[in-house]
Amino acid sequence: MTRDAHSPGPDQGQLMKKKRRCGARTRAGGWCYRPASPDSHRCRQHGGKAGRLPGTPEHPNSRVARLEGRRRWVERMRAAKAAGLIERFRNGRRAKGLPPRSRDRIIARGQRLIEQRL
Ligand SMILES: [Zn+2]
Repeated sequence: MTRDAHSPGPDQGQLMKKKRRCGARTRAGGWCYRPASPDSHRCRQHGGKAGRLPGTPEHPNSRVARLEGRRRWVERMRAAKAAGLIERFRNGRRAKGLPPRSRDRIIARGQRLIEQRL
């Protein structure tokens, strides 16, 4: 079979302007299918602005801002610790020698309660 030049091929021209569509599931069981936000597989309603696609490099300016903010926070916390205002960093890493947290939410919560008593 040869292709007739006059017949419109399937998806010709449509392939180029094919937009990424939201892949969220609807309650009816189908796909959301609204146009996805830039740099995302989701539309605005489904969190399209909430992050980068996996593998997308972080913008250099964002990276610098993030690291600088962290640096200032650590500086502040060190000063507060030195001044005796805090005993330890909030949300810091776990103390050495403790067993790893369970992946089960309920067990992890129990571990947390026990560790607070230690
Ligand atoms: Zn959506």
